[in-house]
Amino acid sequence: MPLELEKNYSPTETEPRIYQLWEKSGFFNPDNLPDAKTRKPFTVIMPPPNANGDLHAGHALTLTLEDIMIRFKRMQGYKTLWVPGADHAGFETQVVYEKKLEKEGRSRFGMDRKQLYDEILAFTLENKKNMEQQVKLLGASCDWSREKFTLDKDVVEQTQQTFKKMFADGLIYRGPGMVNWCTKHQTSLSDVETEDVERDDTLYYLTYGPLTVATVRPETIFGDVAVAVNPEDVRYKEYIGKTITVTTPIGQMELMVVGDELVDKEFGTGALKITPAHDANDFALAKRHGLPTTPLPVIDQYGKMTEKAGKYAGLKIAVAREQVVKDLEDTGLIVKKEAYRHSVPTCYKCGTTIEPRILDQWFVRMQPLATLALQANRQGKVKFVSEHFEKIFTYWMEHTIDWNISRQIVWGIPIPAKICEKCGHGLPDSEDFIKTCFRCGGNVKADTDTFDTWFSSGQWPYLVLGYPNSSDFKTYYPTDVMETGRDLIFKWIPRMIIFGLYRTHAEPFKTVYMHGMVNDAKGRKMSKSVGNVISPITLTEKFGTDALRMGLVIGNTPGMDMSLAEDKIKGYKNFANKLWNIARFILAQENIGKIDPELKKEFDELAKDITLDMENYRFYLAAEKIYHYIWHRLADELIEEGKSKEEMMATLYYLLENSLKLLHPFMPFVTEEIYGKLPPPAGGRDKQLLMVEKWPA
Ligand SMILES: [Zn+2]
Repeated sequence: MPLELEKNYSPTETEPRIYQLWEKSGFFNPDNLPDAKTRKPFTVIMPPPNANGDLHAGHALTLTLEDIMIRFKRMQGYKTLWVPGADHAGFETQVVYEKKLEKEGRSRFGMDRKQLYDEILAFTLENKKNMEQQVKLLGASCDWSREKFTLDKDVVEQTQQTFKKMFADGLIYRGPGMVNWCTKHQTSLSDVETEDVERDDTLYYLTYGPLTVATVRPETIFGDVAVAVNPEDVRYKEYIGKTITVTTPIGQMELMVVGDELVDKEFGTGALKITPAHDANDFALAKRHGLPTTPLPVIDQYGKMTEKAGKYAGLKIAVAREQVVKDLEDTGLIVKKEAYRHSVPTCYKCGTTIEPRILDQWFVRMQPLATLALQANRQGKVKFVSEHFEKIFTYWMEHTIDWNISRQIVWGIPIPAKICEKCGHGLPDSEDFIKTCFRCGGNVKADTDTFDTWFSSGQWPYLVLGYPNSSDFKTYYPTDVMETGRDLIFKWIPRMIIFGLYRTHAEPFKTVYMHGMVNDAKGRKMSKSVGNVISPITLTEKFGTDALRMGLVIGNTPGMDMSLAEDKIKGYKNFANKLWNIARFILAQENIGKIDPELKKEFDELAKDITLDMENYRFYLAAEKIYHYIWHRLADELIEEGKSKEEMMATLYYLLENSLKLLHPFMPFVTEEIYGKLPPPAGGRDKQLLMVEKWPA
């Protein structure tokens, strides 16, 4: 019987209703799929969105791409599992919460630790609900029954277990080591949590006894332990191994001159002051030459001068620099000044200049782990969709440095360790009987630091699946694809690979798909301060999720940044209407005649072509091809022809039904809605939801 469809298609009315229909069907859970037992698994772990705010355009892209993969594979007959999650996001969330506290005239400093933790937990759980709602709005067909939070009990336990195992295996050690310190946030940060900025400074040439050294940080001279020169430098050869007397505004110091091949003869005078307490390179050099590596610092954790700086004690760094320079000038110890442009690491959240500090903290010995990861990549166990990212990955792994995993914040997974109050020595807290430090006899107490959030996120793929004993882990691990933004090529991807290989002896995923950044319509990075942030939720409300998804995918090649323009999305809203009108016309006619073999052949070829694109992650091409076919072939040509040829209707019914299948992964809502109106298939088979129909190629 012909059917009369509503005149207009309304995404706002349809989308939530269809999502409920899918949820009720149970098919997001692979165990409920038809013939689940005989299907092969296909698994994607969703990068857990931070539970501290609204989803942004990057999340929308991630969810769209992953949902496309999952829907395609589900229709192809795989046992598809897509696991959603929520990230407590350690430092990130604490920073968000601190801003909230600031607005309320409060501060986390001086707050009771437990009180602060409980407040952030309540805040996060509240936001988590909001985030989940938004993930649903975007049409994600993920299995909510398996959702994981990064602070779930088993996740915490296994994360701590990994720490203990790595310690036992010699892959984790307790500092002292050089860390990046944010004086505002009062925590150390890993290298990927710092952002280099170009800065114009002054390079000062200082008289150092018989030598002249060049430095941008004259306020740190009180922390010097040596002067270093290149052993090949004829100007300085005679000084190597000798001690020189250096005059400073607070007295004289005796410094040894050392020869080190890494000193650049061309920089400044070729002679460098060595301040291990405040410079990572100097710290490394001091280690190489057996110089003191833990001298008393001249700058404290708040960025103020210490007692060691004599009369400058208590001054902030910038003020101290000014005064030290003035005093040196007054005594004629500054030989010359030079404008100097260099790159300076800053806190990626607040922009404060990073102060390198030597602290007793936990470090991961990266090199042996990186070797595992490089090997897995060489053996083809982990493939990258874009060669470009594979190169970056390889480079990073080949040049990796030890990773500081201690954070001085409460919002995170506690490091299960005891540390000595006196000497800073530490041991995993399985050693419960230890009450005093066996190195110095000092009292030991529980470590109050928490893990760098990437220490637990790095273990996400197997933690989510209930490693080590669950049947999910046995069925769905290693997972198939890890899809994420290109900004996570350092932060996340390498860590997941090393943890996976280390703990499960298998790669966590077989393929890495990285997408580019989503910029505004003019191609500018979205930023709150510029005020050009486009909310995917607003776009969904305005144009429908289907339209947003098409706008995010078409024209978007893997790894390349894209511009998000409202006009483009509006265009796909028109396309949803067009499709509705096509269906409206076809369904109003009797399904008569025979399927035209030529037109069927033409369609089958298109389907094959699109399938090939889908399998090779060319979603932008697949989407464009089906869009083009529906609009320009089916609507503009075949339906026009069909208007005067009744016997074409069976063909049009066939083409509509199968076009809906090809379009479903991209525009799941409107296709499911129309599919539900189609007559049941021939042969008496029950009609099922489009989401579990068979892919037509
Ligand atoms: Zn900071």
